[in-house]
Amino acid sequence: MKFSKFYAPTTKEAPKDASLPSHIFLLRGGFVEQMGAGLYNYLPLGQKVLNKITKIVKEEMDNAGALELNFSMVTSAELWRQSGRFDVFGKELLRFKDRKDNDFLLSATNEESAVATIRGKVTSYKELPKNIYQVNTKFRDEARPRFGILRGREFIMKDAYSFHANEADLKREFDLMEQTYSKIFTRLGLNYRAVFADSGAIGGSGSKEFMVLAPNGEDDIICCKQCTYAANIEAAKRAPRTSSALKPEADAAKFLTPNMKTIKDVAEFFKVDEFYTIKAVIKKAIYADSTKIVVFFIRGDDELQEVKAQNACKALDIADASDDEVLNAGLVAGFCGPVGLKGVDFYIDSELKGQNQMICGANEKDYHFVGVSVSGFNEDRFKDLSAVRASDRCPECGGELEVSKGIEVGHIFQLGDKYSKPMNATFLDENGKAKPFIMGCYGIGVSRLMAVMIEASHDERGCIWKKECSPFDAFIIVSNLKDENALKYAIELYENAKKAGLDVMLDDRNERFGVKMNDYELIGAPFAIIVGKGLEEGSVELVTRSGLVKEQIKADTALDALKAKLCF
Ligand code: ATP
Ligand code: MG
Repeated sequence: MKFSKFYAPTTKEAPKDASLPSHIFLLRGGFVEQMGAGLYNYLPLGQKVLNKITKIVKEEMDNAGALELNFSMVTSAELWRQSGRFDVFGKELLRFKDRKDNDFLLSATNEESAVATIRGKVTSYKELPKNIYQVNTKFRDEARPRFGILRGREFIMKDAYSFHANEADLKREFDLMEQTYSKIFTRLGLNYRAVFADSGAIGGSGSKEFMVLAPNGEDDIICCKQCTYAANIEAAKRAPRTSSALKPEADAAKFLTPNMKTIKDVAEFFKVDEFYTIKAVIKKAIYADSTKIVVFFIRGDDELQEVKAQNACKALDIADASDDEVLNAGLVAGFCGPVGLKGVDFYIDSELKGQNQMICGANEKDYHFVGVSVSGFNEDRFKDLSAVRASDRCPECGGELEVSKGIEVGHIFQLGDKYSKPMNATFLDENGKAKPFIMGCYGIGVSRLMAVMIEASHDERGCIWKKECSPFDAFIIVSNLKDENALKYAIELYENAKKAGLDVMLDDRNERFGVKMNDYELIGAPFAIIVGKGLEEGSVELVTRSGLVKEQIKADTALDALKAKLCF
């Protein structure tokens, strides 16, 4: 490609709202342009990178035996009514009507489409398993689209759906997909972890996320320093906590605790460690057509993990409760405890089960209970509610945990019959009995990956692409276009490189050298050959974008040098 014929509208400045390197460089480098909140056009450079990422994703999916197809992006609401998701999926789902007043939606995910494709057509266990996938546009009306294409409203996803005769076969495919994803992210050169995850709106039993470790990540990842345990904080477990602080000793009693509304006040008042107190976190749980006040009881020195809380009460979302809502629910803020609590839904952190000598609110203004045993409660009140922290211990080996920031690039789910059962999608087993398909689904954020690769590899000047996904293998930059010999050499090198199968960009623009160099550094192909004055002495400069290392090489070895660097 000749830059003079190319379209890459590079700019010096990025819009003010762009704060992350990937967002800034994708806009400044002319990879993408913004068309609205969370809406982007991919320009030729961006499309080239996307194609390369897609190629790697497809190769590995095909190798694993998955079959590529394409679902329509507009889906009939009828399908989503069959699965029960049309009314409960949040506002991320863009619903609309056609001219005949029929309900439709823009695909946010395609489990229903996948079931509809297989249902009634794959009818026998003999035809199973099947894994179908697409690379297609998704639309989610995100509440806060941000960070450019990292969190867009329209984005490109690779989504796969597998169908099995039994759980064991699903487990086999899930493991195969985990290995396949590992191959993909390794080929992309990313530092990633596969972590235990919450299944969110997709649902199902077990799921794992693939997280690229990056300081700008929105997710908190808990990793063990000693073993391989790693989990999203939303699903992280820990070894039950213990405390070396002196355990209080008191007979069960109600105590006057005037104005002692916070855990800190109560612990100081009784001179006990906060570990021995019970904190009430009052929330509003939001359901499809109602809301409800729910109380979550956790240890005084723990924090509520909101996704765990939301899962515990099976809400679509949870929000803070206002003072009035707390009052109307009959709760005494600051003095709320599980003992004798009536008329409101409540859950207790599993780690509190069986604990004794605890202190909690007495559900009466200015009173707390001491010497409390957390027992006698219904089993299903106990849920995992607390946020795991770096100071906690690994649930698998007891080792030290650490918290890192990650960006989710992939998510694999074991769905079981969550979709096939309500959608009545069955096959006949060996005994001729109709059974719902056992399903898995597997997503990769293809467009997000383009930004993640920049987050993982850039400097203050621009992108540092690995050769696998760089828009070009190399640039050839003619420092002075008026130098006829230099231009002739550069064109020859460019033609030979093309013949050798390299994807090179010849910067033949009539621009100052500084402008061309800046654009090269911003766009960031792994190597460049600079053809300048040195050519008179038979040398050119080979630049390695990572570290901007420059070396003089013999002009007649330039192509071999590039091929060697690019392992061609
Ligand atoms: P997140 O937690 O980041 O909102 P999610 O869990 O809702 O993502 P999934 O339903 O698991 O996303 O979708 C599969 C993949 O699609 C994600 O792992 C992510 O890489 C990508 N993805 C999801 N939402 C977006 C988005 N708004 N913009 C770009 N990529 C996205
Ligand atoms: Mg996810």
